[in-house]
Amino acid sequence: MPRIFRLPAPFLLVFGLGVPPAFAAEPAEPAAAAWYRSGAEVVARHERESIDRRRAHNVILFVGDGMGISTVTAARILAGQRAGGSGEDHQLAFETLPFLALAKTYSVTQQTSDSAPTATAMVAGIKTRDGAISVDETVQHDEQDATVIARHAVTTILEQAEAHGLSTGIVTTARVTHATPAVNYAHTANRDWESDADLPAGAGVADIAAQLVAAQRRYGIEVVLGGGRMPFMPATASDPEYPTHHGYREDGRSLIDEWLAARPASAYVWNRRQLAAIDPRSTRHLLGLFEPSHMQYEADRRAADEPSLAEMTTKAIKVLQKNRKGFYLMVEGGRIDHAHHAGNAYRALTDTIALSDAVRAAQELTDPRDTLIIVTADHSHVFTLAGYPKRGNPILGLVIEPGKTKPELAHDGKPYATLGYMNGPGHAALHADSDPEETRPVNAGRHMQADDDTHSPGFHQEALVPLESETHAGEDVAIYAGGPRAYLFRGTMEQHTIYHVMRRALGF
Ligand SMILES: [Zn+2]
Repeated sequence: MPRIFRLPAPFLLVFGLGVPPAFAAEPAEPAAAAWYRSGAEVVARHERESIDRRRAHNVILFVGDGMGISTVTAARILAGQRAGGSGEDHQLAFETLPFLALAKTYSVTQQTSDSAPTATAMVAGIKTRDGAISVDETVQHDEQDATVIARHAVTTILEQAEAHGLSTGIVTTARVTHATPAVNYAHTANRDWESDADLPAGAGVADIAAQLVAAQRRYGIEVVLGGGRMPFMPATASDPEYPTHHGYREDGRSLIDEWLAARPASAYVWNRRQLAAIDPRSTRHLLGLFEPSHMQYEADRRAADEPSLAEMTTKAIKVLQKNRKGFYLMVEGGRIDHAHHAGNAYRALTDTIALSDAVRAAQELTDPRDTLIIVTADHSHVFTLAGYPKRGNPILGLVIEPGKTKPELAHDGKPYATLGYMNGPGHAALHADSDPEETRPVNAGRHMQADDDTHSPGFHQEALVPLESETHAGEDVAIYAGGPRAYLFRGTMEQHTIYHVMRRALGF
């Protein structure tokens, strides 16, 4: 019988940080002896730990869309500073997980990848081409023939979990038909075919929203929570929250009605109050669509209308936990990526902290002896922390070096911020903007002024190369893991290995 690594919570709280508790919230440099002791304590703890070779009852895969390592570092500092500390020694919830590996994120066709093949790699165990949703690399990007798609579809971990009698769920702040959630239940050549209105005329393959409801009829997904009502509603129907918006579907189908009819004890909700009222004991199949398109950024979320990612995760786990055989759940922080594309670190980091809160909620509701928790990203972004800012310097601020009170000046006589992008809309003078999606003419060059409010939610960090949308980045991303078989994550791994660890952990 292997010894199971499980530390009492107070031990983790005090020593899991690797920082002496007395210094945890203070920017002042601690005594050398305390640093020394804290490092030695971490090593001693690791020596006492043993690996857990048992089967996992449950697997929760958290994906921070676009959450590269620089995003994790900056979000950690921002969270710590919002809590009143200097920030650098703070830990996000998933940074307490004991195992770590790096994932190589390239796809069959791309050095720097998009979310479709990277998410397919994670849930279906193969690399594939750009834009592909759980089909292999031989399928061309415009393939519309349903029989060709079926022949080259790859079985996902969600489909296998259902076949083994487990419950399954998907939670995201993006549209539930967006690439990362879609790879779990859909098979199609083109990630953009989310509703029938997106399909080319005469296409044989079903759109992604229709595939979700077909999967529901076939094997009964238990929980789907996120954004994107429009692909589920007919064009004749107006939106319950924004009556001037109409559905996208041209085939007249209400996929929401079809979801409700497909299985007994099914429910549909579209706001936070309705979600809170759902009784997980009596609800077996829950669909929640909280915005016409993606959900709001956490920084903009109206708490009265929309649930947080942590609230959706909590409800999902409570519905899924009814199944004694276990469950598989994917939780996506889907909009970290969108805020980075807009060159807006404030919203990207705030959404990263929201993902950390969702991980913490999952940790509190599950037992590390039977639940494998994985936290990773599909790909990175061209986001950097730069300069020599002093300890505790506001992470959203201008670079002020140790011993100084004024921002450093670059060779052009202008100050610069710690956070920046290699490319994107921040090349132009966008800094006063409150709309993260707005773009301006390019070639404005560097625009930083000493009195710029770099802490403003709408601030666009500076970018070197003018692009309308900041891009993904190609370096490796981290995989954090804890629970049964988490030790299988180690070294530099191909991203599709994540699926094989989940499959082994669940004993499929
Ligand atoms: Zn993206």
